[in-house]
Amino acid sequence: MNSATFLGLAEALERVRGTASKREKVAVIAAYLQGLSPDDAALAARVASGRASERGSRDEAQVGYATLLDVLREATGATEDDISSSYLEHGDLGEVAEELLAHKKEQPLFAAELSLRDLEDGFAMLRSAKGKGSGSAKRRIVKSLLLPATPLEGKYLVKALTGEMRTGLVTGLLEESIAAAYNLTKGEAARAHMVLGDIGTFAREAASGRAAAARIQPFRPVNFMLAEPFATAREIAEHFGKTVYAEYKYDGVRAQVHRAGGEVRVYSRRLEDITASFPEIVASFKDTGVEFIIDGEAVPFAGGRPLPFQLLQRRLRRLEGLEEAVRKAPVTYFAFDILLRGGKETVDYPLSERRGLLRDLVDGTSARLAETTDVGSEEAVQSAFRRSRDLGYEGLVVKDPESTYAMGKRGSGWAKLKEELDTLDVVIVAAEYGHGKRAGVISDYTFAVRDGGGLRTVGKAYSGLSDKEIGEMTSRLGEITVKDYGYRRQVRPEIVVEVAFDSIQRSDRHDSGYALRFPRIKRIRTDKGIGDIDDIGKVRQIFSGQKLKMEEA
Ligand code: AMP
Repeated sequence: MNSATFLGLAEALERVRGTASKREKVAVIAAYLQGLSPDDAALAARVASGRASERGSRDEAQVGYATLLDVLREATGATEDDISSSYLEHGDLGEVAEELLAHKKEQPLFAAELSLRDLEDGFAMLRSAKGKGSGSAKRRIVKSLLLPATPLEGKYLVKALTGEMRTGLVTGLLEESIAAAYNLTKGEAARAHMVLGDIGTFAREAASGRAAAARIQPFRPVNFMLAEPFATAREIAEHFGKTVYAEYKYDGVRAQVHRAGGEVRVYSRRLEDITASFPEIVASFKDTGVEFIIDGEAVPFAGGRPLPFQLLQRRLRRLEGLEEAVRKAPVTYFAFDILLRGGKETVDYPLSERRGLLRDLVDGTSARLAETTDVGSEEAVQSAFRRSRDLGYEGLVVKDPESTYAMGKRGSGWAKLKEELDTLDVVIVAAEYGHGKRAGVISDYTFAVRDGGGLRTVGKAYSGLSDKEIGEMTSRLGEITVKDYGYRRQVRPEIVVEVAFDSIQRSDRHDSGYALRFPRIKRIRTDKGIGDIDDIGKVRQIFSGQKLKMEEA
C-alpha cells in the first residue's frame, strides 16, 4: 500500500480541532484511520497525540522554538515583528506557521506531495541529528519539510514538532478512535494500549489485527503504577482495613529496568530511555541471566543511607561528567515490583507473589529489594512512617499484598503518605457539602491567607478531619454562614485551621494567584484567631523556596 498524504492527516486534525463534540472527534479520526496502512496508522496516531517519535525511544525528534522560528523566517521572509504579532494573536506556533506560509517567499524546486512516510523519514533524520553541527542539520531538515508544505500541513508539522497539538483529542479519545476504527472493545483497547505503551505502536497492532494478542515485552516500557495520596495514617489504615505492606518511600528517580539477551535498559516515568545516566543499574543486572522487567526507584545512596535527591539532578541534567556524578552520588536501585519474568507477564499476580519473584531476582545483585514491614493498624502505619523519616526517607508507600500491578493507574492498591512541605495557618471563608460518604455534611473548605487588610484564597481542603470533627464543623459553619447558595456557603472568616501541603503552584483558580497542592487539614486551631493567620508573603516565600523536584529525568 502506498503511504497516505500528510495533507489528509492535517485535514482530519483540523476537523477534530473545529468541533467541540467528543463523539465527532472520535468519528473523524476513526474514519480517517480506516483508510491507512498499519505503518501510516502508527505515524498518524503518534502525530495526533503530539509526538514525533515512539514513546521510550532513545532520541526525540522534537525541535525547539528558536529553530522553528529561524526556519519560518527564512522560508517565508517574515520579520521578527511579523512573527511576534502573529504569535500574540494566535498564541500557537502552528498557527503562526499557517499564517506565514500563506505568504511564502522561497518556493521549492519541485512541489511534491508529502506522504506520511516522507514525514517519518524527516523525523528519523531529526532523531539522529546529534552533537556538533546538529543545530544547522536540524534547521535544514525542518526547512526541507516546511518549504513544500501547504499552510495547513505546515501548521500540523510545527504542532507535531513542538508537541503542542491543541486539538482537544486527548489520549482517551484517541484510544477510543483506534478502538472504533478496528473494532476493538474498550477493554481490549485499554489493555493493548497499556501493554504497548506507545499510541502509534498500539494503532499499528490494531490495524494489523494483532492488538488483542499484545503482550508486555522487554525494551518496550509500560506506564508505571502510581500511588494514591493519603493525608494521615488513620485514613490509610481505614482504606485498607487489614494487614498490608508498608515500604519506605524512596526519594529518587522512578525507573523501570528491562533486561533481555544480555542487555539492560532503564526507562523513566515518562518512558524515556535513561540508561546512559545510570551505569550502576546496568552493572547491577548485567549478569542476572534472565529476561525481566522490574519497577523501582534509583536512589542516591551511600553508607547505608539515602543522600539528598538534589544530588541526582546534575547527573540527570548532564551538567557534569558521569564518572564524577557516580563518585559523588552513587545510585542504588531499590526494586519494588516485577512485571515480566522469563517471558511471562506477572502483572496480574498478587503483590505477595510478585515480591517473592522479585526477591529471587534481586538477591545476589548490588540492587536491593525495597524494605517492607507489615502494618495492620493506624499506630503501626504511624510508627513505620516515623521510622522512615528518621532514616531519611520521604514517607511510606503502603500496598495491598493482594493487589495486581495496575499499569498507568493511580491504583487504590498503593497509598502514599509523606511529610508535608510546610504548613500554613489559614482561615475558612467558604464551605461546601461533600459527596458519597460525606453527603449531608459540610466537608470541603475553601481557605484564605491575609493580604494587607484583606483575605485571599489559596486552596480547598477535603481531607484530614475525623467524622466527628466534620460533624462539629458542619454545625459551626451553619452558625457563621453569611450567604447560603445551597450546596455552597460563604462563612464569616473565623475558623482557623492548620493545613499541610506538598507544594505550591501558580493558579488562577484562587484570587491569591497560588494554590496549595494536596492540602490537608492537620488540626483546627481553636487557639488562634483571624489575626494570627499567615499572610501572602509566607506563601510567596514557600513558593520560591520550594525545591523543584524535576519531573523525573
Ligand atoms: P509522589 O512523587 O510524591 O507522587 O510519590 C510517588 C512516587 O514515589 C512514585 O512515583 C515513586 O517514584 C516513588 N516511590 C518511592 N518509593 C516507592 C515505593 N516503595 N513504592 C512505590 N513508589 C515509590
